[in-house]
Amino acid sequence: MAHIIDGKAISLQIKDELKEKVSALKQEGTGITLAVVQVGNDPASAVYVRNKKKGCEYIGIGSLSYELPQETTQQELIALIGQLNGREDVNGILVQLPLPEHIDEDAVIRAIDPKKDVDGFHPQSVGALSIGQPGFVSCTPAGVIQLLKRSGIEIAGKECVVLGRSNIVGKPMALLLLRENATVTIAHSKTRNLREVTSRADILITAIGRPKMITRDYVKEGAVVIDVGINRDENGKLCGDVDFQEVAPLCSAITPVPGGVGPMTIAMLLSNCLESVHLQPR
Ligand code: NDP
Repeated sequence: MAHIIDGKAISLQIKDELKEKVSALKQEGTGITLAVVQVGNDPASAVYVRNKKKGCEYIGIGSLSYELPQETTQQELIALIGQLNGREDVNGILVQLPLPEHIDEDAVIRAIDPKKDVDGFHPQSVGALSIGQPGFVSCTPAGVIQLLKRSGIEIAGKECVVLGRSNIVGKPMALLLLRENATVTIAHSKTRNLREVTSRADILITAIGRPKMITRDYVKEGAVVIDVGINRDENGKLCGDVDFQEVAPLCSAITPVPGGVGPMTIAMLLSNCLESVHLQPR
């Protein structure tokens, strides 16, 4: 049976390390504050926002909360971001996605000062990642790298397949694996012979949003499987992109859903908030 990678335990370990760093910074007189902006009252977003604020509290950093009504205009939202960009006491700005349809998400992301872009979605952050310069890295893929490293799984030289090519998961994931000296393939909905491609992977990372699509015939024996997907199965139960029951016996290590990649996203967001201190020299 595979080693089950415990994302909850690893994320707690990271949060405890961050807590110590925050306390050391406080002693030097440096406080950190994250501004969290939510537009509308999407229930899933509300849960994410609440968990992010809880995470801030746990490691001892401040959080400012902006809960704006659904009918907020793009101009109003961008004006708020402008104010937050200008505030010296705000280190990170997070706008919870998705935004209501009448607001252009890309325009909002571009309005955030890249030095405060703790989600790592700004084109400048993405560009910096692709050319190996300092900048914020998208939290979920950064969390996957930490899961691998902290589980003692070597990445350098490995054949890695990333399934999914979104801007927030698949693409930055591939860039991070490349930075760790893996040989990387990105697969997506137009990939031909998908099973053949994924079966080459020493490390397979799935981020497609298709409940339990990845069955044993997509996976090489002894592979490490990291499941980023968060879906509901036919009974409304949370599940990943991977059919865990079927695939786990085949792997050397695998993440469960829930309790795998999910908890890492907030841990890495908090880590980015600390990183902001280095990107914003005082
Ligand atoms: P997107 O919908 O933006 O991207 C999905 C990607 O998967 C696309 O590149 C798409 O290909 C590809 N894809 C879809 N269906 C197939 C298929 N049948 N075969 C091959 N490729 C396919 O999703 P996200 O990247 O935002 O999220 C992916 C999953 O990860 C979701 O379940 C989401 O909930 C979860 N997630 C989890 C997070 C966490 O904290 N754990 C954070 C963010 C996301 P194409 O480009 O060709 O359309």
